[in-house]
Amino acid sequence: YKVYSSLQSEGLEKESIFSDFEVLHAHTARLEGKVALITGAASGIGKATASKFISNGAKVVIADIQQQLGQVTAYELGPNATFIACDVSKESDISNAVDFTISKHSQLDIMYANAGVACNTPPSIVDLDLAVFDRVMNINVRGVIAGMKHASRVMIPRKTGSILCTASVTGLMGGLAQHTYSVSKFAVIGIVKSVAAELSKHGIRVNCISPFAIPTPFVLEEMSRIFPGVDIQRLIEITQNAGVLEGTNCEPNDIANAALYLASDDAKYVSGHNLVVDGGFTSFKTLEFPAPDQVH
Ligand code: NAD
Repeated sequence: YKVYSSLQSEGLEKESIFSDFEVLHAHTARLEGKVALITGAASGIGKATASKFISNGAKVVIADIQQQLGQVTAYELGPNATFIACDVSKESDISNAVDFTISKHSQLDIMYANAGVACNTPPSIVDLDLAVFDRVMNINVRGVIAGMKHASRVMIPRKTGSILCTASVTGLMGGLAQHTYSVSKFAVIGIVKSVAAELSKHGIRVNCISPFAIPTPFVLEEMSRIFPGVDIQRLIEITQNAGVLEGTNCEPNDIANAALYLASDDAKYVSGHNLVVDGGFTSFKTLEFPAPDQVH
């Protein structure tokens, strides 16, 4: 009202003020009327994305294995967020989460299969713990494809939808993480291409985002295994300083912005894509020559 009054006192016509507000609203509420289901949204990237989607007009169902934290997160995000307990390694939990979303909001426009875990297994292939490998694949790969399966079930009849998932820079290059985690993310990028191929004929887009390292709880847990005894603040610093783009670092909100773009109609012709958010890390390698004065 204050803005309206001051614009009116500057002599602007009522109609012109309201049409400007409409343009502003359309720009800021890019998911108006949409319903999203986000797995692993009690914390980190999923939580930041839930918050971003809600501030852009969406209703969001937060699905996570952490019941208490999930409920706190939903409460924090306000009336447009609802929590449902879900372990993505159980197909029935994913199916329930999709059905719950439909019963609550009558539709599902955006499925973000984001939940993922790191792995605690010796780094060498020689010592690979295959039980850990199976557990991580169950969550990071099977959980993602199960999310796509059940989202498709309700999206295909409506001939519209946007499916997202979180891959990683470790799914683009070897050597950035333990084999198990890295392989799981290579698989996610493959799943996106395979499923996008089929769902394109139903008007459904399928994309993923590949973030660089962000000091969220699971990364810090992994870092504390690599650097035992080092305090948390130092681990955050080490993670943030690992990037190549000077003056900034990768944050959950950067991924939420990428997800907002891919989920919204701004990306209406984008499918099968892996949107890499890494400050250029996987795009180049600089040559490391010795300093000229040391070459004789
Ligand atoms: P996070 O630890 O903050 O969040 C992960 C969430 O997933 C947690 O809330 C956790 O409870 C939930 N979760 C774990 N197992 C689950 C299961 N079986 N079922 C349902 N929910 C489960 O970490 P984050 O960084 O926000 O991770 C989100 C995604 O981003 C993961 O897929 C991760 O692999 C990916 N990723 C993270 C980074 C990073 O550096 N943080 C980089 C690349 C990719």
